[in-house]
Amino acid sequence: DYALNYAKEHQRGRPTIFSKSHETEIRTRSTIEQALRCADLESELSLCFQPLFDVAHQRPIAFEALARWHNPELGNIPPNVFIAIAERTELINTLTQVLLRKALDAASTWPEEIHVSFNLSVRDILSVDSMTRIIAIVQSSGVEPGRIGFEVTESALMGDFEQAHDAIARLRALGTRVSLDDFGTGYSSLSYVHRLPLDTIKIDRSFVLDIETRATSRNIIRTIVDLCRNLEIGCVVEGMETEAQADILRDLGCNTMQGYFFSKPLAEKDVLDFLSLSEVSA
Ligand code: C2E
Ligand code: MG
Ligand code: MG
Ligand code: MG
Repeated sequence: DYALNYAKEHQRGRPTIFSKSHETEIRTRSTIEQALRCADLESELSLCFQPLFDVAHQRPIAFEALARWHNPELGNIPPNVFIAIAERTELINTLTQVLLRKALDAASTWPEEIHVSFNLSVRDILSVDSMTRIIAIVQSSGVEPGRIGFEVTESALMGDFEQAHDAIARLRALGTRVSLDDFGTGYSSLSYVHRLPLDTIKIDRSFVLDIETRATSRNIIRTIVDLCRNLEIGCVVEGMETEAQADILRDLGCNTMQGYFFSKPLAEKDVLDFLSLSEVSA
């Protein structure tokens, strides 16, 4: 189970509620699910914001909202863990709504030219009701829809292509943008890109990891960048941690980047300071 492995990996060597046996894992999963059901989501959930950089102009152009959960009993649970658990049930739809409201509240305090991007789950995309609620939240937020981007992973599209297509079309009709997240990690990527009304592709971090040593990774990134240019859609690369990686990516034609090299996810209260240091003012 990916989520629980992730948890173990990230908590290795620390006192942890994620233990080794399968049985304990299942118990842990249901503990987390139970805690999530009983949680005061408004106060326990928060968002960090990680900037996306326009490299040519050396300035942030958007922030991606990344969920954080602090539970009084369980402590901090990593998003890969609790999102994956929430996604097994309709709990995720509630989480999405609470988080989207928080993300748009935050974005409403930022300068107009700064966009916000928000991750949707498969279950949001595949539920007509959930999409209707998401659209209502956008409409009542006061944030210009053109400033809002939704990120969808390929796995969201595989379940039911028609439904996913309709959901994306509804978001586009509203004026919001849609990106395909973690590009290159799923299946049939090219056919999706070709058949969906997407604005942007986000190239997965896994291609950046060995970019300095593997020509194949560089070639894949160059190919995706060219594809985006030919299709006239945007391209973002995520996960560069070093200057060397960022330099190679720039030479490969990447203009928009998001990674620890530029900034780790920031606490919500630090976004405006970060913008003024970057000389973006309201
Ligand atoms: P994602 O949407 O692909 O988000 C990028 C993840 O990569 C974030 O992890 C971010 O902190 C991390 N990252 C960015 N740059 C670097 C880097 O240079 N190095 C490394 N090692 N990591 C980097 P995070 O915040 O742990 O989120 C993990 C995943 O959880 C997200 O992947 C997304 O799939 C999911 N997630 C987070 N927030 C939400 C949410 O509000 N809703 C939904 N449905 N999923 C969310
Ligand atoms: Mg994302
Ligand atoms: Mg991503
Ligand atoms: Mg990713």
